[in-house]
Amino acid sequence: MLNIVIFGAPGSGKGTQSDRLISKYGLHHISTGEVLRDHIARGTELGRIADSYISKGQLIPDDLMIRVLEHVLDSNPELTSKGVIFDGFPRTIDQAKALKKMLASRGSRVHAVVGLEVPEDELIRRMINRGKETGRADDNPDTIRKRLVVYHDQTSPLRDYYIGEGKYHGIDGSGDMDEIFERIHRSLHDRVPELAESDAE
Ligand code: ATP
Ligand code: MG
Repeated sequence: MLNIVIFGAPGSGKGTQSDRLISKYGLHHISTGEVLRDHIARGTELGRIADSYISKGQLIPDDLMIRVLEHVLDSNPELTSKGVIFDGFPRTIDQAKALKKMLASRGSRVHAVVGLEVPEDELIRRMINRGKETGRADDNPDTIRKRLVVYHDQTSPLRDYYIGEGKYHGIDGSGDMDEIFERIHRSLHDRVPELAESDAE
């Protein structure tokens, strides 16, 4: 498996850049936000629980979130065998430790963490726009503010965690989407030999 974590504040463009990474490297995309929104749309028990946190801009508790991710990995063995782009997971240090264990038990590891770095005023602008265009319920000014606080308190410490592991690729996430992808591609190509091998260009 070749595993990449795509990391960044809400609205930093994780989903957009994940799509490009998938086409380039043929990896499987797991977006925990999408998994949860799908449960909410289908009205499952997990969806009801998830909605109660998401609508307040809070994180789903670690123990539940870790079980959800483990289930997604186990239920798609053929899809995940080549490798996974983890989008929106981990969001806490405990989730990062759990991911490390999960991958180790499958004989693998996180190969690289792509950190999309975007100024806060730009994040807010993007999410307000997305809320208007897609109707996504948590993209409203009040919930956006809460999500940014949660990001700073609980998620941003992961940057140092992954710098410590030598895996962090900080990427300027402002500007043109294709240019951002080019920055990611260059950084991974230079520092992740396993990816360079599967890289046609
Ligand atoms: P982006 O705009 O970059 O795609 P985002 O933060 O706007 O990112 P999602 O990743 O889709 O959105 O997550 C939406 C919500 O789902 C989060 O605010 C949180 O409540 C919940 N969630 C998603 N992943 C996790 C996780 N790993 N742990 C806890 N809660 C999560
Ligand atoms: Mg997303």
